[in-house]
Amino acid sequence: MQNFTFHNPTRILFGAGQIGGLSREIPQGARVLLTYGGGSIKANGVYDQVRRALEGFDIIEFGGIEPNPLFETLMKGVELARREEVDFLLAVGGGSVLDGTKFMAAAIPWQGGNEWDIVHRRMPPKTALPLGAVLTLPATGSESNSYAVITRAATKEKMSFGSPLLFPRFSVLDPETTFSLPSRQVANGVVDAFAHVAEQYLTYPAGAPLQDRFAEGILRTLVEEGPRTLAEPRDYDARANVMWCATAALNGFIGAGVPQDWATHAIGHELTALHGLDHAQTLAIILPNLLWVQRVPKREKLLQFAERVWDIREGTEGSRIEKGIIATRAFFEAMGSPTHLSAYAVGEDRFGEIVERLQARRALPLGERRDITEEKVLEILALAR
Ligand code: NAP
Ligand code: FE
Repeated sequence: MQNFTFHNPTRILFGAGQIGGLSREIPQGARVLLTYGGGSIKANGVYDQVRRALEGFDIIEFGGIEPNPLFETLMKGVELARREEVDFLLAVGGGSVLDGTKFMAAAIPWQGGNEWDIVHRRMPPKTALPLGAVLTLPATGSESNSYAVITRAATKEKMSFGSPLLFPRFSVLDPETTFSLPSRQVANGVVDAFAHVAEQYLTYPAGAPLQDRFAEGILRTLVEEGPRTLAEPRDYDARANVMWCATAALNGFIGAGVPQDWATHAIGHELTALHGLDHAQTLAIILPNLLWVQRVPKREKLLQFAERVWDIREGTEGSRIEKGIIATRAFFEAMGSPTHLSAYAVGEDRFGEIVERLQARRALPLGERRDITEEKVLEILALAR
């Protein structure tokens, strides 16, 4: 096992009705900036619950944070927060609202010149405003990690950054807030969480059986509960289990002391930035094809994955690996997430641009062994046609 430091300071308030306790989590007398997206929280009643829970607080609102949050939009919120001298940020929504709010938390007190450098040059913030979250879409793990993914419209760059200062102080996870999710977003959440686990588990053996078994437990739970959430949108326990899986997938626990890949995410970010696919739609396309292209270096973990996640025990090593990957693809399809680029009309003529952009930001070679070269990215994309 590799050395690691594990520190996850986010308090999780899990379950129905937990929004009601928000006022205990925010410092008394704080001027709160309530951030949200395009209005889903107003349609499903979450906004009203939050406002009721925060009666007596000074609240300023910043709505309109879009999916794949834009630097340009967020800077308007930064200016508002500076003008209003807010001292606490409360993000209410999915990963995009949370990520956007994390960026704002770092950017509001930023004195280092251009705020885009926090993302683009990964310049570490020295200070950040405290933030909390009410999560309405289980997917990203942003509610309990220190990362954010921000897009700059002007340059079509979609990039991640992080800082220990950006862990939410608390996150409220009420599964009932997810009852209103459209099935596309339910699928996105399950696929994103699955891919987060895969990026930390499907690498090479690192003598870390506990992390492996946690990872396998999350994957098996997603495979069992994901379809239930689609079939029975108001099944509280199914929603609760998916929600907790998504948090556990990327709160640092299963990734402690093990090699990590993240190539699927890196390629996927370019697809979103260039072609507008949802984040998880890109992962459903890239992950199975990347696993296939990397089946030799990932051999041992792919065999373990086939056996322990998919119960595949018969056949040659090669066929078991293949069956595990086929089962993964079939699971994404069954959730309603296509696994081929043709579903989104992204043609072969666009592949060169994706590689060029990865090169331009010096992201290549990718993967836990840094062996996913330009040629391999092109091979993955060709298989994903
Ligand atoms: P999202 O972009 O936050 O939201 C997608 C859509 O779902 C929005 O239109 C949103 O509407 C709607 N929505 C959210 N909650 C809803 C609810 N309860 N009922 C109905 N509609 C609801 O989706 P996401 O998958 O959570 O976040 C994706 C972003 O996170 C991407 O930018 C991705 O790159 C990033 N990401 C971050 C991390 C991380 O560690 N920080 C990891 C992976 C991915 P409204 O806008 O109206 O609310
Ligand atoms: Fe993700």
